[in-house]
Amino acid sequence: MKFYDSLSIELSRPGRKGYSLSGEWSSHMADIPASLCRESAPALPELSEVDVVRHYTNLSQMNFGVDTGFYPLGSCTMKYNPKINEEIASSSAIARLHPLQGPDTAPAAYEILDLTDKALQEITGMAGFTFKPCAGAHGELTGLMIMRTYHLSRGEEARTKVIVPDSAHGTNPASAAVCGLEVVVVKSGEDGLVDVESLRPLLGPDVAGMMMTNPNTLGLFEKNIEQIAALVHECGGLMYYDGANMNPLLGAVRPGDMGFDIMHLNLHKTFSTPHGGGGPGSGPVGVAAPLLPCLGVDSSGFHGNFTVIVKALSYIMMLGKENLALAGRLSTLNANYIKEELRDCYRLPIDSVCKHEFVFDGLINDGGSEGVHGATTLDVAKRLLDYGYHAPTIYFPLLFHQSLMIEPTETESKDTLDAFIAVMKKIAAEAAEDPAMLQGAPHNTPVSRPDETAAARNPILKWQDAVQ
Ligand SMILES: *Cc1c(COP(=O)(O)O)cnc(C)c1O
Repeated sequence: MKFYDSLSIELSRPGRKGYSLSGEWSSHMADIPASLCRESAPALPELSEVDVVRHYTNLSQMNFGVDTGFYPLGSCTMKYNPKINEEIASSSAIARLHPLQGPDTAPAAYEILDLTDKALQEITGMAGFTFKPCAGAHGELTGLMIMRTYHLSRGEEARTKVIVPDSAHGTNPASAAVCGLEVVVVKSGEDGLVDVESLRPLLGPDVAGMMMTNPNTLGLFEKNIEQIAALVHECGGLMYYDGANMNPLLGAVRPGDMGFDIMHLNLHKTFSTPHGGGGPGSGPVGVAAPLLPCLGVDSSGFHGNFTVIVKALSYIMMLGKENLALAGRLSTLNANYIKEELRDCYRLPIDSVCKHEFVFDGLINDGGSEGVHGATTLDVAKRLLDYGYHAPTIYFPLLFHQSLMIEPTETESKDTLDAFIAVMKKIAAEAAEDPAMLQGAPHNTPVSRPDETAAARNPILKWQDAVQ
């Protein structure tokens, strides 16, 4: 049995300790009034120091992160996060600030916000940012509140519809619904881009705006963006840019120049803040000049997750203008390299140059026969774990049945990409020869295939018997 198969409470032995209280401390215990003392000792695990250290060290090694290996999770930008960002953000001058401190006692903190604001303005072409939102989805909600406030300030109550492409990230329609707006879906064409002819009939005096991400979730640049923005503006609507995946556009194209009026960025994707496991994040919202008076909508307190903003500024300043543009280009090059190397083994539903990520639609030869499916995208993702890789994003976007979405980011070397490509080819060969073996993968991990629905719906997060 491996050490980490046990919970700390199971490793517990009566009387085993990792501390010793001196006699002086024990004598102080006598001063505590009896009414405040427990009747019996708490049911805590009884372990030695070395037991505790090994337990948690082993648990930490069961984790997978950007710092342990290649993490091609599409739509997430799992780039390497330079450690200097952490060092700066955790310095006591920053980590010990209080959110109620104003410019009088913490002028440097406000300078950090100001510098980040200016840098983001230059990168995006917007006129100003708010740093309140603590995630991308939170930014969307804030941006839509700004959109609504703007229309209401002009007496246009009827503008309640938000147009969202069928390829959109799920948070887009969700944010619009939370904001009390009505979601209208516009179709993508064969080429994976928003179909302009399907958009025209949806436009009218009830449209608040359109949410788009560019490149879209297929990793494709929406070439008709200027025409789309012109059409939406003509009917009085605003353009919202989901800039969660701004990475490939860094230094190449600015949302402000594409015709967008409101946008959010995910500092925890594009601007290098660790974000596995859910945060903390930062989704600053930027607006074009006419919307600046609406920027102050109340979507949360203070200045959001301040240390994430510090890390983003550290990243931007460390790279500088030239190298930031290189990050965008290299992320695009890396994605296209993998795509072209693997297209003989994996089905490429839309054959075009991608940006920072792309989507396969399953294996070309899945090893199935006569209408029987062989290995699926899930099986490929599970098998990758055996080879020490994090799985790509699977079954998203919803436009295809076997979506496998790969985003390598700019921080990976050609050697890392080549090793990943070799493994993906090997898995494709395994699928053709022995799909059953893939269907049983992963074979080398502590847990193989849990019932994922049950695990998500009924998670058991504590050891039931521990409560006595
Ligand atoms: C990640 C992502 C979001 C949501 O960001 P969160 O910080 O997870 O809320 C929104 N849109 C796109 C395109 C994304 O990739």
